[in-house]
Amino acid sequence: MCEKTIQNPPNTIAIDGPAASGKSTIGNLIANKLGYISLDTGIMYRAVAFKAVQEDVDVLDGEAVSDLAEQISIDIRPSQEDDGRQFDVIIDGVDRSWDIRSPEVNQVVSEVSVYPRVRNAMTHLQREIAKNGKIVMIGRDIGTVVLPDAEMKIYLEASVQVRAQRRYIEELARGKKVCLDEIAESLRHRDEIDSGRAVAPLRPAEDAVVINTDDMTVFEVVEFVMDLINLR
Ligand code: C5P
Repeated sequence: MCEKTIQNPPNTIAIDGPAASGKSTIGNLIANKLGYISLDTGIMYRAVAFKAVQEDVDVLDGEAVSDLAEQISIDIRPSQEDDGRQFDVIIDGVDRSWDIRSPEVNQVVSEVSVYPRVRNAMTHLQREIAKNGKIVMIGRDIGTVVLPDAEMKIYLEASVQVRAQRRYIEELARGKKVCLDEIAESLRHRDEIDSGRAVAPLRPAEDAVVINTDDMTVFEVVEFVMDLINLR
């Protein structure tokens, strides 16, 4: 099929949604189609959580976690590796691309993400990266807080059962031994904290297009978003 030339693509696209809603896969495919960069901001919060686990910092100690977030060096580059990763994530000089996806990090990342100083530090970095435009930025608060003037805002949602099933299949494909119920429980845990926090809670921006992907394939969601872009 021929790719159509897009006349007036949005300069900044925000894609938000809960854990495992397909944001990263879909955001990266759209960025590729437009020749844009993409940034999965979850990586940044995961990097802070990883550092807290690595340094044995109590995640309930907001000041200590915030100090880490203000000092950490995170370098995110498109990956050439053929192991399922989309980005190489270098934290303080060391490749941690898979360490940030561990169950230990999943367990504490939402706790770490509630602290205002952590969010300020990450939001500042994210806006710096976005300032030249031509970017698809993926997260929880991109359309509401990080880039409230984004020219297109998408909010992906799906039931916890569907999201857990998708994550289960991904983990199996990576040769991991996983339990569907544990994945669903971990997603529920993160959804609850991410939606309930005082600063930058997970929710669709008022001007976001909300897409329920329960019965859609990745291909269908990408086509739908590309149609929205073409119809602007
Ligand atoms: O997207 P991902 O599941 O990798 O994000 C991990 C965690 O990082 C989320 O559960 C959330 O607590 C936090 N996060 C956030 N704001 C963002 C992106 C992620 O609070 N913009």
